[in-house]
Amino acid sequence: MNKGKYYLTTAIAYTSGKPHIGNTYEIVLADSIVRFKKLNGYDVYFQTGTDEHGQKIQLSAEKAGKTPQEFVDEVAAEIKRIWDLMNTTYDKFVRTTDPEHIKLVQKIFKKLYDQGDIYKGYYEGWYCTPDEAFFTDAQLVDGKCPDCGRDVHMTREEAYFFKMSNYSDRLMKHIEDNPKFIQPESRKNEMVNNFIKPGLQDLCVSRTSFDWGIPVTFDEGHVVYVWIDALSNYITFLGYDPDGCHGDLYNKYWPADVHLIGKDILRFHTIYWPILLMALGVELPKQVFGHPWLLIGDGKMSKSKGNVIYADDLVDLFGVDAIRYFVLHEMPFASDGTLTYELIIERINSDLANILGNLVNRTISMTNKYFDGEIKAPTASEPIDDDLIKLALETPLKVEKKMDELKVSDSIGEIFTLLRRSNKYIDETQPWILGRDESKKERLGTVLYNLLESIRIAAVLLEPYLPETAEKILKQLNTDKKDWDSLLQFKGMVPGQKVGTPEILFARIDAVKKIEEINKINEAKAPKESVKPEVTKSEKVKEDVCYATIDDFEKLDMRVAEILKVEKHPNADKLLVFQLKIGEETRQVVSGISKWYKPEDLVGKKVVMIYNLEPVILRGVESNGMILSAEKGKKLSVVSTLEDIPSGATIS
Ligand SMILES: [Zn+2]
Repeated sequence: MNKGKYYLTTAIAYTSGKPHIGNTYEIVLADSIVRFKKLNGYDVYFQTGTDEHGQKIQLSAEKAGKTPQEFVDEVAAEIKRIWDLMNTTYDKFVRTTDPEHIKLVQKIFKKLYDQGDIYKGYYEGWYCTPDEAFFTDAQLVDGKCPDCGRDVHMTREEAYFFKMSNYSDRLMKHIEDNPKFIQPESRKNEMVNNFIKPGLQDLCVSRTSFDWGIPVTFDEGHVVYVWIDALSNYITFLGYDPDGCHGDLYNKYWPADVHLIGKDILRFHTIYWPILLMALGVELPKQVFGHPWLLIGDGKMSKSKGNVIYADDLVDLFGVDAIRYFVLHEMPFASDGTLTYELIIERINSDLANILGNLVNRTISMTNKYFDGEIKAPTASEPIDDDLIKLALETPLKVEKKMDELKVSDSIGEIFTLLRRSNKYIDETQPWILGRDESKKERLGTVLYNLLESIRIAAVLLEPYLPETAEKILKQLNTDKKDWDSLLQFKGMVPGQKVGTPEILFARIDAVKKIEEINKINEAKAPKESVKPEVTKSEKVKEDVCYATIDDFEKLDMRVAEILKVEKHPNADKLLVFQLKIGEETRQVVSGISKWYKPEDLVGKKVVMIYNLEPVILRGVESNGMILSAEKGKKLSVVSTLEDIPSGATIS
């Protein structure tokens, strides 16, 4: 069954350094989509790679004492290693320093210049070096870069420009005629209202202030600026030819079905890129999906915050599939997801070890115990079976529908609904009781058949998300029926054949021990100078003030929060569980102040909290922040503000 072609691209990763888990999320998300499309019957082409030019790379290479090419060779290899470690199945890993790409970009640039879309002028504006971006006065935030908050400087240089405004009506019409072009929907409105409607400015497409880029062939000193160089990778590596002699891959796979990118670069892909393609007379991609971010605790990962977590470290700790599962499951379609070690452990224990692992282990073990591993024909059905079988047959279609909308987390949810239902079926049918009664053997065989077949369907569907685990389950089931059509009938397991031996898929993790282990590893890795001085409360050294630098202070994000609700902690007398309102957001925080306050006296009060404290599980309840209080002797008071101020206000 061939449902047609499916071409998916990720953004190409910028080779300024090793990607952290937040940057690695995208390739895993992309991989789960293309693996599903393959299972679903599509002829897939999956392209990823690296964006290797620009001033930032030139500067980083200089700092590292390397040539830019040496520098990007190393970083690109590292990125590829991580993509491979995550078990991703890309067909092509492209690099923008590829000579063939360079030649094509030069031809594209020349073509656009010759036909009058590109003209020469001067660029004057505020420039942010780390972001390699120009900004107008109006775009600056408090005089700083609106993207990263760093200093900008006024720059004037000769440059080529692309006349964007010539195409804005056509782009607007395309977006209106193709409601699925920009996903999620909320981002579409942002692009239209913030950028297209106010009028598109001409785009600077060449630079002269650095030379690590693709030279403009007809004007020495100019290099092609990031847009035309990086964005065009989606067609150049397929064999697009500005003269019209396209390669086979281009003829077969273009237009892309999905450009999967981070929400922060949506503007480049839904405005600049379509306009470039229109100018080239090339069909537009069918869809651009700007996925949300994976946050650490509650902030974006960054080296300056010291909260960077790398995929390979997580894989060492938990295994590839557990990390794939976590990032895919934890990311809703349109809003950001959060990663903490505690949450990863919780997901592994509750979902992978308990719901999935237990079900498979119990079912295979019982088949071995009662029938020496032999699969029995389902000849003794009862009405109670219908509900499970119906759900097992509906699940592939539900997953297909969600995946068509790129709702990956929801798709996984559908599969886990089937797994939960199967566990419930074990409770309902109680096979261990049937096993005690010789006359119930036929019924027992039927129950186990229904379970084995439901597990097979779930395992085949899990492959796009948990490829290694799916393979292990199919091996334990001893079946090679894993095509899409086999999911549409409840008869993939073959009576008379034998299942394999049960093996543990995911061991339960002792959270306390694991966190201790992680802390030790992280302490050992932390550079010496960043180790905090030990704070002592001894009376003798009371005068020795331990100074916090302004950087230390700035690490803390403190905010005013309004108490919406307070309850006693279910497992600890000293603790109260708060629901706090911080601006638009609601948070749960556990605090040990039940000795001083009654819950009902606190509701409606405004308190001061540490907003970016790493989330922890306190006696089984998640706490996401810390309420500040002042304490002396036996007295304690929660810290509040002198004047009434709305919740969400920041403390500085
Ligand atoms: Zn910046």
